[in-house]
Amino acid sequence: MTRPERPPAERNITIRQEILAVLEEVESNASDLSKSVRLTEKEIYAHLDELCKSGRVETIPAACNSCGYRFEDRRKARKPGKCPRCKSTRIDPPRFRRKS
Ligand SMILES: [Zn+2]
Repeated sequence: MTRPERPPAERNITIRQEILAVLEEVESNASDLSKSVRLTEKEIYAHLDELCKSGRVETIPAACNSCGYRFEDRRKARKPGKCPRCKSTRIDPPRFRRKS
């Protein structure tokens, strides 16, 4: 009498399609995406890292609000904690867009 459940792998594919659909419309940061797809930001980061690695999404780097430093080398979706140049924590999170 067990209810068939969707296997987790399949669920992940659906989520990634949803994320891609959102990013096709508008570039977004993880916080926007977590609202659109209804997942925690932590989960969004994991999916984004995967999508970036597979080349379907590109990252617009995070930037420091105080000195303008751009986190160009950063490959992780997660927002950096503070600026390596001026130590400010006022960081604009990275944004993501669908790669055409
Ligand atoms: Zn800075």
